[in-house]
Parts: sequence; C-alpha cells; structure tokens
Amino acid sequence: MSKKAKVTVIGSSSMDLVVTSSKRPGAGETVLGESFKTVPGGKGANQAVAAARLGAEVTMIGRVGDDHYGKIILDNFKQNGVIVDYVEPVTDMESGTAHIILAEGDNSIVFVKAANDEVTPAYVEQTVEVIKNSDIVLIQQEIPEETVEHVAALCSELGVPLMLNPAPARPVSDELIEKAAYITPNEHEAKIIFDGASVHDSLRKYPNKLLVTEGKNGVRFYDGAEEILVPSYAVEAVDTTGAGDTFNAAFAVALAEGKSLQDSIKFANRAASLSVMKFGAQGGMPTRDEVEANL
Ligand code: ADP
Repeated sequence: MSKKAKVTVIGSSSMDLVVTSSKRPGAGETVLGESFKTVPGGKGANQAVAAARLGAEVTMIGRVGDDHYGKIILDNFKQNGVIVDYVEPVTDMESGTAHIILAEGDNSIVFVKAANDEVTPAYVEQTVEVIKNSDIVLIQQEIPEETVEHVAALCSELGVPLMLNPAPARPVSDELIEKAAYITPNEHEAKIIFDGASVHDSLRKYPNKLLVTEGKNGVRFYDGAEEILVPSYAVEAVDTTGAGDTFNAAFAVALAEGKSLQDSIKFANRAASLSVMKFGAQGGMPTRDEVEANL
C-alpha cells in the first residue's frame, strides 16, 4: 500500500460505565455488584479506533463534554492515532455516557447522548474541507437524524462515498438510502429500516449497496444477478460487543484502499471475527498485521 486511506468518521463517542452483578436490581431495589470499570465507547469512536488500528489515516468528527470523561475520550483517540482536531468539547455539557449492567447473562444499557447531540449540521459544515479530502466517510445513528441527512447530501454533492451503518436502527428515508454508497445493518436493524420487508427483497432492491451482517454466518448482499453470502471465520467468541463496529471500520478501510467489494467484505469479516475473541468493544480490535496474518 503506497498511501494511507483517508477515512473520516462522523459520530458518537461516550464513556461506558460497566458494572457486573449476579442479580439485576428491580425498581427501588439496591443490590451489591461485583466489579466496575470505565471504558471508552460509542459507535463512532469505536469505528474510528478500529480503522486507525487497521492503518488508515482517520479523522473523527464528533463532540465530547468539557468534563473529566471528555479528556479520557480524547486521550484514547490520540493513543490510537485518531486525528481529534474536529472533536471539540462542548462548554458546560457532559460527555455521552453508557450505563451498562451486566447481570444474569444479559446486559441492560441506559445511553445518555449529552454532547453527542451537538454534532449538528452546522458543526459538520465547519469540517467540509476534511470531508472533501476523504476517500470515504463513515456515519452511524447515535447523532441527530438531521445531521445524518445533512452529511448524506453533502457527500453526494462532493462526490465522496458515504457508508451508513444504520445503528441503532430507525426507519431511514428513501433519499438517504439513495445518497449512501453503502448501508450496513445487521439482520435486526435491516427489518426496522425496511419496515419489516424480508431481507431477501431488500437486498434485491439495493444491489452492491446493502450489506446485511449476520453475526458468525458472515455478510449477505446481492450482486445484481444473485445473492451472495460471504462467510465469516470460525473463532472462539468471547465477547461480540463491537463486532459490527470493527466490521464497518475494516470494510471502509478496504474500500478506501481500492479493494473490490468481495475482497473488502472478506477483509472486514476477518477483522470482525478476530475482534470477538477478546473482551470489550475496543479491547479486541485487531491491528493490520493481525488481520493480514490470518487472511
Ligand atoms: P452487530 O455487532 O452490529 O450486531 P453482527 O453480529 O452481525 O453485527 O456482526 C458483525 C460482523 O462481525 C459479522 O458480519 C461477522 O463478520 C463478525 N462476527 C460477529 N460475530 C461473530 C462470530 N461469533 N464469529 C465470527 N465472526 C463474527
């Protein structure tokens, strides 16, 4: 690879506050937990970190609070080589936080968007030069809907390919689908986005654009003639949190480097499958060498 792919991520960042407990508290109840830790997260931040570990030049466009967590989130970006010139702290506001309880084999999460709501269309407008110079732009849905629509219009005007990872799911407009170069829901998200339509019908409607991730099975798309399932790799899964984030980042990096659609999916499946072998969303994200050694 002669030059680094330029990937711009527009999205959320948060501090995840994770407790483990043998019992989930009911309303009005207090229980004793076993452990507590804080880890940087947010879909936007996760994807930016994953893309940087895979060797891309990554610029994050987002907001943090002017609080202690904001500093930790910024430090984490820097440690992973993500450019933070456009992650501006919001005055008198908290950083996004995810309050996660791991109990009884499942998780419950309260996500407080806080500063992420300030990733507005006007804020993004100040970053047009960065967007213009990107090989690809990657966006998710933990920021305001109007910003996602604005970025889609901007990218289409500038001729920069946009990858929309429509998570968390909400119905998306035809116009948004039209303007995105790639859309990457998981099976559950695909149902919500396309109003309960069957995945097969949706795939046929958007050849070489809609890619549905199916966990350990891999990724499905329609190439204009037939439906293709690109299988993932069999691994010992420890924690699948953030698998989709690693997939999206790796897929964007591979496409930005000029790899074909199928080769890009294969590369992203390899990266995502490696990520589920370790604990934590960012904790398991592989480096470029780790992916290439296993392709
Ligand atoms: P999300 O994390 O958004 O729910 P998926 O569960 O569909 O998305 O996973 C995204 C991608 O991660 C899959 O397409 C696959 O490449 C990889 N992946 C997820 N779980 C596994 C697994 N158990 N084994 C191998 N690969 C996996």
